[in-house]
Amino acid sequence: MTELNGDRSAWLRCYRCWATDLEVQMHYDAILRIDPETGEPSDRLDEVQEAVVQCLRCLHDQPHLTIEGDKVVPVEDRWERMVAGTPWVASCTVTVDQDQVESCSGPEAAESLTYGAFGEAGTREFFTHVRFHKHDEERIIVHFLVELYARSAEEATQVLEEASRGVLEITSLAEESRPPAHAADEAH
Ligand SMILES: [Zn+2]
Repeated sequence: MTELNGDRSAWLRCYRCWATDLEVQMHYDAILRIDPETGEPSDRLDEVQEAVVQCLRCLHDQPHLTIEGDKVVPVEDRWERMVAGTPWVASCTVTVDQDQVESCSGPEAAESLTYGAFGEAGTREFFTHVRFHKHDEERIIVHFLVELYARSAEEATQVLEEASRGVLEITSLAEESRPPAHAADEAH
């Protein structure tokens, strides 16, 4: 970690446009017990904190960064691949047990199908488009277009395989060009 922090500029930037203008949105949810004598909230029963780092240039979320304590830190198994990689678009299907999908119709459907198929990586890191889904007895076959960042086709395939929570079948995988860096002097 010490070594990494020494070269903070490698990861403390937008993975898409490499801008270093970042902001963090913190959301806190706290549940406080009310003191019956004074009416004042006192004991902290529960606290949930959610932090999302965003790029001010291209406005995208930065899933390779997270907050630890009061500092932004890189997500170890993600940041190098995302910052140094290029976007890959996969056309694929994931076959999952129907119990893995909370709801497959209505406004929550796309997110539920994505989470059921790819877990947290699907909803947080990848850009997914659910084309359609089919039921096959107890299983659901979800047809996706997925965009993710990787340094090679092999790595993109591996990331999809690791994220997949069912049987993954990739029908096509193509490299796209990276969005232009916001300043030439910051390009690698
Ligand atoms: Zn950006």
